[in-house]
Amino acid sequence: MIRTKPFRYLKIAKERIQILFDLAEKEFRKHPERSKRYVELARKIGLRYNIRLTKEQKKKFCKNCNSLLIPGLSSQVRVKSKKTISIKCLSCNRIYRYPFRG
Ligand SMILES: [Zn+2]
Repeated sequence: MIRTKPFRYLKIAKERIQILFDLAEKEFRKHPERSKRYVELARKIGLRYNIRLTKEQKKKFCKNCNSLLIPGLSSQVRVKSKKTISIKCLSCNRIYRYPFRG
């Protein structure tokens, strides 16, 4: 039996992930729970097709509760030092630290 690699599906899956992130951003203010669901779905598609999320996508949501991290709205950003910033998810209080790029 010949198995062809599903490149087409990968491309579609990647597009779906991006669409779900866009929807999550759109719905966030009005329907935060729906927004979380979109992030959850995007992550599930990524897992199923073994697709890594982009750096931008990874930083956009809380890995603990799938809430989008929007500064001043759902997240609190603090500059810890010249080298690191911390981002706190206001939905579940989880704190993430990232190297600070100026
Ligand atoms: Zn969270």
